[in-house]
Amino acid sequence: MNTLKRAFSIWHPFTQHALHPIMTPVASAEGAYLITRDQRRILDAISSWWVVTHGHCHPRIVAAIQKQAAELHQIIFAGHTHEPAEHLAQKMLTLTGLDHCFFSDSGSTSVEVALKMALGYWRHSGESRSQIIVMEGSYHGDTIGAMSVGERGVFNEVYEPLLFSVTMIPFPFSGKEEETFRALEEACRTGAAAFIVEPLVLGSGGMLMYSPRVLAQMHAICRSHGVLFIADEVMTGWGRTGTLFACEQAGITPDIGCYGKGLTGGALPLALTVCCHKIFAAHYALDRRRMFFHSSSYTANPIACAAALENMRIWEEEPVHERITKVIKLQAQALERFRDHKHFQNVRQIGTITALDLCVPDSGYLASSALTLYDFFQSHNLLLRPLGNTLYVLPPYCVTEEDLCKVYEAIEKAPQACGLL
Ligand code: PLP
Repeated sequence: MNTLKRAFSIWHPFTQHALHPIMTPVASAEGAYLITRDQRRILDAISSWWVVTHGHCHPRIVAAIQKQAAELHQIIFAGHTHEPAEHLAQKMLTLTGLDHCFFSDSGSTSVEVALKMALGYWRHSGESRSQIIVMEGSYHGDTIGAMSVGERGVFNEVYEPLLFSVTMIPFPFSGKEEETFRALEEACRTGAAAFIVEPLVLGSGGMLMYSPRVLAQMHAICRSHGVLFIADEVMTGWGRTGTLFACEQAGITPDIGCYGKGLTGGALPLALTVCCHKIFAAHYALDRRRMFFHSSSYTANPIACAAALENMRIWEEEPVHERITKVIKLQAQALERFRDHKHFQNVRQIGTITALDLCVPDSGYLASSALTLYDFFQSHNLLLRPLGNTLYVLPPYCVTEEDLCKVYEAIEKAPQACGLL
């Protein structure tokens, strides 16, 4: 018992310590690389859980953090405001076409805020709508509300008694989109409050991709029934799908958008839930019971806001779109050799993200191949973290052709080298 206590004083996220007892000690990071205590350079091919956009420790973001920390590092955000938050909110409203920004500190909390905004909207508008429609295979975070609106399965089955019930519609697999539309239409007709969805790609659900046309059609169905449309852009935002936000490709503006991860370029925890005016207006009254009852101690932390603001300036002033276009092209070229490959199937890409499924009998998040592959990639100084038998590459935008060559050579070798065939 004492040995266990001593060995695992830190309990790591999404980690089974009994199978994976040794953590990689990272001392620093630069660009697309993590540098370990013993000076190994590990290529971060998943942008450290999809947060890092331009690269680790972008000098402009580092400098903005240092400057802000020396001026104002934290204040209560009820009854107070500060410039970094104000400037950031203005930029975000311009980018999203929405009207009001609410700050929080993680993707999960941005989703909690979105759900509470939706419920508050209906309650204060005098309609008793509370049902939330969700898509099979979704992942929206690990807090109770975020888990409730996600796929029910291995991630949350232990906590099932705490989760609220939702209406689940099928994922729009190619050729089966009509089933999704019919189920959404039916769910909307019952007077649901909101539909929450990851636009264009379901991340943790296995990098499942669907078309902008389907996204636009789902949005139109919600519109026609007055059901609020919540776009969870926590993973898809900040260029991952090729455009700044995935919703742009469908030509839609959600009623509520959730943004996190790359909001600060991946430097600090910050999230935004941005909504249209009618939602704010429904809460605006002389009655204090109608205020929005949500906060956390670090709401709109000035240092995190300064990092996010600098990130936005980088988008404005550096050739970020050109870098993204290059990554998209390199990724597409690298994928070619896996099309019709006997060991891989469902080879797919959206923007800068690629994914492919290893042909093994065992599939799903707990597929035994995942850990073996993870260790194999680590031994090749690559950070890749398969979702079960699904391998995906989601690099920061500073990744080079040479870096990607290393990644895909390792992926091609992996099934045989790991004895998985
Ligand atoms: N929503 C989506 C689509 C995500 O992919 C994630 C995390 O991966 C979250 C929400 C939760 O974000 P966080 O881990 O910052 O709480």
